[in-house]
Amino acid sequence: MSGEATARFSGGQAFPDGHQFINGTYRHGHGEEAERINPATGDTAETLRYADAGDVDAAVGAARAAFPAWSRSTPAERSDALHLLAAQLRDRADLLAAVESEQTGKSIRLASGFDVPGTIDNAVFFAGAARALDGLAAGEYARDATSMIRREAVGVVGSITPWNYPLQMAGWKILPAVAAGNTIVLKPSELTPGTSLLFAEAAAAAGIPDGVINIVTGSGRTAGEALVTHPDVAMTSFTGSTAVGRHIMALAARTGKRVHLELGGKAPLVVFDDADVEAAAHGAVAAAIINGGQDCTAATRAYIQRPLFEAFTARVAELMDRVVLGDPRDEATDLGALISHAHRDRVAGFVTRARDAGARILAGGSAPGGPLAAGAYYRPTLVAGAAQESEIVQQEVFGPVLTALPFDTDDEGLALANDTPYGLAASAWTRDLNRSLRAAAELSAGCVWINEHIPIISEMPHGGYKGSGFGKDMSAYSLQDYTNIKHVMMSRDTAAHKDWQDTVFRLR
Ligand code: NAD
Repeated sequence: MSGEATARFSGGQAFPDGHQFINGTYRHGHGEEAERINPATGDTAETLRYADAGDVDAAVGAARAAFPAWSRSTPAERSDALHLLAAQLRDRADLLAAVESEQTGKSIRLASGFDVPGTIDNAVFFAGAARALDGLAAGEYARDATSMIRREAVGVVGSITPWNYPLQMAGWKILPAVAAGNTIVLKPSELTPGTSLLFAEAAAAAGIPDGVINIVTGSGRTAGEALVTHPDVAMTSFTGSTAVGRHIMALAARTGKRVHLELGGKAPLVVFDDADVEAAAHGAVAAAIINGGQDCTAATRAYIQRPLFEAFTARVAELMDRVVLGDPRDEATDLGALISHAHRDRVAGFVTRARDAGARILAGGSAPGGPLAAGAYYRPTLVAGAAQESEIVQQEVFGPVLTALPFDTDDEGLALANDTPYGLAASAWTRDLNRSLRAAAELSAGCVWINEHIPIISEMPHGGYKGSGFGKDMSAYSLQDYTNIKHVMMSRDTAAHKDWQDTVFRLR
């Protein structure tokens, strides 16, 4: 299976049987035709036929038909299926890494060392977690009555994911949903459909029944909105930008759907004056440029207590200058291309406007020339002195760009860190226990790292505060998000007229 799939992918047209995976098979969509561009070269990678509303309806129909049997399967059966899925993903590891790298422009080292193993670990984690759903309890809460509290699958879940980590996002959405007994229709970003399709194909090869996992690929406006507004979809889980997330929330309100929103981020990195500067600089560079900075938890704003400002920024600039940009397929490449030329130009625009407003560019600040000129590349960039209220500090740039500002008191550093509309992640760098504890409590974000920035593993809940959304991905908490709580009360009171009914009517 893996060999066949590899041959097909390297043959040029990646999915000859169509870019929709519905009810266990690939299909051609009935929507518009679109070209997908390889961001590292600017060349057309393949031509896709998008899903239209009818294709979305077919996928939701398949998921709906699969729901009764899947939701009644035992946790052990679902767990076995997810273990088999993990094995199928492991068999396809090289193919998944190659497709992920090609469609996003990210380096093969990141795809094969982070995206793929992270997704396999997620499958193994949710295979275990499927058997550990909590909330099952029984008790006597009213006289002569026994209550049971059941946790049940919600129904058909409609999920929409972004382009930055397409495989991991597919895993984060699909795995908890199906582990809890739901069926799902997922729409990946139109820029990066490949690994979500391969994920569904691996699930089918693992024996997960047809219709449990369906993928529709196409535009947000057509396929995405058809999924969010579909009356048979019980819940929408979305990862993407804050603006689209808010739009989806409004659309979901039309049918009163539950929503789960993982939105944008603008993570601060706060370096206190007792920090290990060398560790903070390495942490800042890795966390700022990972995935080309196209990571919702990437370090984007460094606040450095004044005594360390010069040493920290000089070291970060030096390390950034040494980052190797190159062909994403090359193992020596640290930083590949950004997702598209338009996005690269958007990133460059933020830096140019900051420079024009008086900020100092201490590293990068341009696209490379030479053999990389045709791709959507941008150098790791350090911007000092951009005002706290400026767009580059307040808005998501989503590129390999770190801003740096000094602060004096601890109060000031924490206040600046919290001063954006986002609240997804943050880090504090200090060797002082009390500062660590204070930062952990006062940084307003769903994740706070101390002397670290980025690592995330299946057990760790991931989700935002403020404009970064709500709900958790990964971890046992995400399973809860994909279930309903049902209370069942069984009366043992044999009286025809119960005492409590006197408060309503007294006729005996
Ligand atoms: P985006 O919001 O533009 O698109 C995300 C998805 O929504 C895509 O599949 C897109 O086709 C779809 N979409 C767009 N318009 C739609 C509409 N009207 N109706 C339904 N669906 C629609 O985001 P992006 O540019 O693909 O990804 C980058 C964003 O994702 C950044 O803001 C980043 O912070 C965020 N992100 C967040 C997390 C997290 O866990 N919080 C993780 C990864 C990425």
